[in-house]
Amino acid sequence: MVHFVGAGPGAPDLITVRGQRLLSEADVVIYAGSLVNPKLLEHVKKECDIYNSARMTLEEVIAVMENAEKAELTTVRLHTGDPSIYGAVREQMDLLDNRGIPYDSCPGVSSFCGAAAALNLEYTLPGISQSVVITRIEGRTPVPDKERIEDFAGHGATMVLFLSTGLLGELSEKLCMGGYKKDTPAAIVYKATWPEEEAYICTVGTLEITAKKHNITKTALIIVGNVVLPDSYDRSKLYHPEFTTEFRRGRKGAEKS
Ligand code: SAH
Repeated sequence: MVHFVGAGPGAPDLITVRGQRLLSEADVVIYAGSLVNPKLLEHVKKECDIYNSARMTLEEVIAVMENAEKAELTTVRLHTGDPSIYGAVREQMDLLDNRGIPYDSCPGVSSFCGAAAALNLEYTLPGISQSVVITRIEGRTPVPDKERIEDFAGHGATMVLFLSTGLLGELSEKLCMGGYKKDTPAAIVYKATWPEEEAYICTVGTLEITAKKHNITKTALIIVGNVVLPDSYDRSKLYHPEFTTEFRRGRKGAEKS
């Protein structure tokens, strides 16, 4: 059996309870060494075989899983954040399907949640944005034509950009072409939830210069939209005294604040 497990964004205590249990029971662990905190490996069994997938191909990863399965061992494939976001898990699962090897998935805290925590930020502020676009700029890996940054920017919704820190000049340009103003608030969060976490609030127009100033070239997320620095937003209906919900009767004329 192979368990795909989300390691969380960095802090070792941000893996789920289930993920930690699966890790502690694993005979083989294959972890994404470029971003998974090695501290998570301190609690695996003494006899556990550990592989760093940063130096392996897909075929090599699958071969390790296949050998473990033949020996009736349990494998944990440890991915950074949540495996479903830029995790390249589908291709592994398809090859496991071909070989009749069973697997399941344990979610993790994605780095975009870690970045919001670093800024005490709410992505979906009423009256500002009720949607979050998770995307990336095209680099060495292509992005479908229909998913151009300019088109997403046209919605004015909150955007979170993964894997884009090396192309911030181009990113600013595309965001502005789509309709974001240069002075729209933005943020750069480096290594969210790690001890070396850094978070900077800037604007769409100053993304590149801010990253340069702080020597940030990778392992960062870019957040764009007025939710970063809201000047006014609507309070939630759910907690408004006049609003009736399944659990609470609203009172007409109850004090607004
Ligand atoms: N599955 C992961 C994303 C993997 S893609 C998740 O759910 O978070 C790798 C990219 O994620 C990095 O280039 C960076 O943009 C972002 N990233 C991963 N961990 C991060 C962290 N702790 N802080 C900021 N960005 C991070």
